[in-house]
Amino acid sequence: MNFSDLGLQPELLRAVADKGYDIPTPIQVQAIPAVLAGRDVLAGAQTGTGKTAGFVLPLLQILGIAQGRAPRVLVLTPTRELAAQIAESARDYGAHKNLRTRVIFGGVSERPQIDGLRIGCDILIATPGRLLDLCQQGVADLSQVQHFVLDEADRMLDMGFIQPIKKIIRLLPQQRQNLMFSATYSEDIRELASRMLRNPVSVEVAARNTTAERVDQVAFRIHKDSKRHLLVHLFQNGVSDEGPWYQALIFTRTKHGANRLAQQLESAGIKSAAIHGNKSQGARVRALADFKEGKVAALVATEVASRGLDIKELPQVVNYELPNVPEDYVHRIGRTARAGATGRAVSLVASDEASLLRDIERTMRQSIPFIPTPEFKIVASNVTEAPERSFQRVDRGGNRGRPRAGARDGNRNGSSRGINRSGQPSAQYRSNTTNRPSASPHSQGDQALRPVGPGGRPESRSQSFGPSRRSRTAF
Ligand code: AMP
Repeated sequence: MNFSDLGLQPELLRAVADKGYDIPTPIQVQAIPAVLAGRDVLAGAQTGTGKTAGFVLPLLQILGIAQGRAPRVLVLTPTRELAAQIAESARDYGAHKNLRTRVIFGGVSERPQIDGLRIGCDILIATPGRLLDLCQQGVADLSQVQHFVLDEADRMLDMGFIQPIKKIIRLLPQQRQNLMFSATYSEDIRELASRMLRNPVSVEVAARNTTAERVDQVAFRIHKDSKRHLLVHLFQNGVSDEGPWYQALIFTRTKHGANRLAQQLESAGIKSAAIHGNKSQGARVRALADFKEGKVAALVATEVASRGLDIKELPQVVNYELPNVPEDYVHRIGRTARAGATGRAVSLVASDEASLLRDIERTMRQSIPFIPTPEFKIVASNVTEAPERSFQRVDRGGNRGRPRAGARDGNRNGSSRGINRSGQPSAQYRSNTTNRPSASPHSQGDQALRPVGPGGRPESRSQSFGPSRRSRTAF
């Protein structure tokens, strides 16, 4: 997504380029089109997310050219610093437009502010107390306001501004567009929003230490050597057999781990790419573009490479390995469930990651439920590691085709379930290959590692493993 995709005028695109912004932030992607469409917006975003450009850019576009003396846009902010900052941004973003921005706040002489209002402006940015003073003196005229922005609404209420805000709202024309920004939603904020906004578009970006409310978070207990097999199963069947995944962003801890997993998934028939700090910018951009276009189903990323990733309608995020820093989990899962959509975050948790999970839950003040690990197959790949090599062995001692890695995967009881003794692909296997040609396990590498059954007959290439409570890794 580029700024030019958001429907902004060339003058504004030029200003954005002058600022050195390459891509819009998530709040900008969501808010700019909504504001341009004239909708009221309720945005859950705090300072630092790029929210100022999210409302200033489209409002500059809607305003067109300078007109009259009374402001048509009013932005209310809780502090002078924020007011000054927004005014500066509005001037920067409007550098190639002929619009006037003024800022008024308390603690400084009124005189220059009064003079400025008398000259006139299109955009007025103000703190509530000083604005009310100037309204009562008849200097500030709010009768022409068509767009009202209430910034940092939660902070406004914390600072006791509810009465001044209500008074100011009463001075505004009934017919207007309303935008409200708040990092948190208390009862008071909800009430204010319900009185102020008409059929608002909700815009949400994940903030530090809070979890995107719409992300359905689940965890599987799984031995680390079995994670990739479970991941292939999830790609092919979904979390609870709801159907195949078409796309997932998968986080690993290391660059090497990202490369290896991408290759392993690829050899299991899942189109994959890795992005991390060692990849060239070109390769990262290409991988991301392929992922966004749906040419790549699994994008395996490290933490650093994931910063700023904005992928529309991303249905799932997988924590293949949990991050060491709990806030990174929040950031990771915030990649999904954007723009009002729902999303799922799946964590594959090995026993040595239990304490990381506890830290994450503590940070989020929320528990992440474990759900039963489904039966999954150990599928050989052409990316070999020690446990996979053992898969090529033919064990004639009643242990036919059972991969040793699988024995450690936590199912000593049910490990022979799903083995097709005729040596033909099992029904489940056939249905997978029929339904998902793009994820077919019939790769060359898979053939090459195909286990051999007794008498030299080809053994089924895949086995099902179902976890039993008894054999699950203890936490
Ligand atoms: P805000 O949340 O509006 O206070 O913005 C936080 C910081 O992000 C400011 O320094 C902006 O200049 C910067 N910023 C806003 N939008 C972008 C963008 N699309 N790309 C890079 N930086 C941005």
